Amino acid sequence: MNLLITNARVVDPSQELDTTLDILIEDGVIARVDRRIKAAHVETLDATGLVATPGFIDLHTHLREPGQEHKETIATGTRAAVAGGYTAVSAMANTVPPNDERAVTEMVRAEAARNGSCRVYPVGAVSKGLLGEEMAELADLRAAGCVAVSDDGKPVWNAQLMRRALEYCSMLGIPVIAHEEDANLNEGGVMHEGFTSTLLGMRGIPAASEETLVARDVILARLTGAHVHIAHLSTAGAIDAVRRARAEGVRVTCEVTPHHLALGDDAVQSFSTNLKMNPPLRAEAHRRALLEGIADGTVDAIATDHAPHHFDEKNVEFELAPFGVIGLETAFAVCYRQLVLGKVIALPRLIDLFSCGPARVFALPGGTLKTGSLGDVTLLDLAARYDVTRDSFVSKAANSPFVGESYQGRPVATVVGGVVKHDLRTTSSPKKRKHK
Ligand SMILES: [Zn+2]
Repeated sequence: MNLLITNARVVDPSQELDTTLDILIEDGVIARVDRRIKAAHVETLDATGLVATPGFIDLHTHLREPGQEHKETIATGTRAAVAGGYTAVSAMANTVPPNDERAVTEMVRAEAARNGSCRVYPVGAVSKGLLGEEMAELADLRAAGCVAVSDDGKPVWNAQLMRRALEYCSMLGIPVIAHEEDANLNEGGVMHEGFTSTLLGMRGIPAASEETLVARDVILARLTGAHVHIAHLSTAGAIDAVRRARAEGVRVTCEVTPHHLALGDDAVQSFSTNLKMNPPLRAEAHRRALLEGIADGTVDAIATDHAPHHFDEKNVEFELAPFGVIGLETAFAVCYRQLVLGKVIALPRLIDLFSCGPARVFALPGGTLKTGSLGDVTLLDLAARYDVTRDSFVSKAANSPFVGESYQGRPVATVVGGVVKHDLRTTSSPKKRKHK
């Protein structure tokens, strides 16, 4: 079945498009984007009043399968993804067992093909068992379909291992995703080290913990000529290091999360464990530096670091709770408020950060509505009201720092390969749909 999306405001930064058009998807790919397309034997989706963009791509998702299916599965995580407007996610390697060998990559891809709602691009481990000792079979992982490698959840503390991984990945044509923290500087830390941690008497995670490793990896990227991608960058010093390295031609890219853009460490005074993640929410000066990086183009992508945990695991004292929050379903609404309504950037730049940028960084298909590209489209209703409640999540988990918030603007339909995988217009009552 082919799909015709009519009368949408098409915002596609890859072609500098922002105008009202129709989109025809045939056999899973974009066949035409034009005014008033006439087509027979197609399903029609009337997008009057909606914005159509290239499908969102999340570079940083923890799907938890295999091994921690009580938190999330490939099926539930990808359903949450399409509910958040994502047509593709890249799945981090720190599953149980970790994705450090071909068999795990193949299992993830097979399960995604069977029960997934969106595309899943596996990320392989840098080291066997994520132990930071022996390098995983990177060429094997690449051949099995991994689009990048990372020990995310942990840093690669061994600089020699990092150098060798960069050299291999350079040959394989994929980036190494770096989770930057110095475990020694971090020891026992549960939140950002600063005024609030002192006030609350909690052990802090200093900005220097991230910045020392970013500095090292920029140096190693320069040495090897390889591509390093900094995951969930959260500090002023780190964004500065990326900006300067790029100006010198070093192949370093970076992503930031919606929660680091929207929230500061002062929020932790509520002691909600849904404000505990790694890297932690930072002080205001860091948050402002991230906004500058968003505005000046230093930041390549917004990535969720969607990290589902079971309610019982988070329902403990702050110090004892696991790090991590979910983010797939709230990312757009949070960033639209923070960045576009907050006048940091215009809508096309936001779409670039959600779609085109991520596709560029990992050299993924998608991120564009050019003829012949993937028929992946996200439809946004910028006027719709979105109340985030514990019950509003499609994800198995509800450990979101944004529960209780009300937003304006949200994804309402998600098309993957020409197939409508999520449609709020049909799942909510017609009354609810008339939001204004
Ligand atoms: Zn991480």
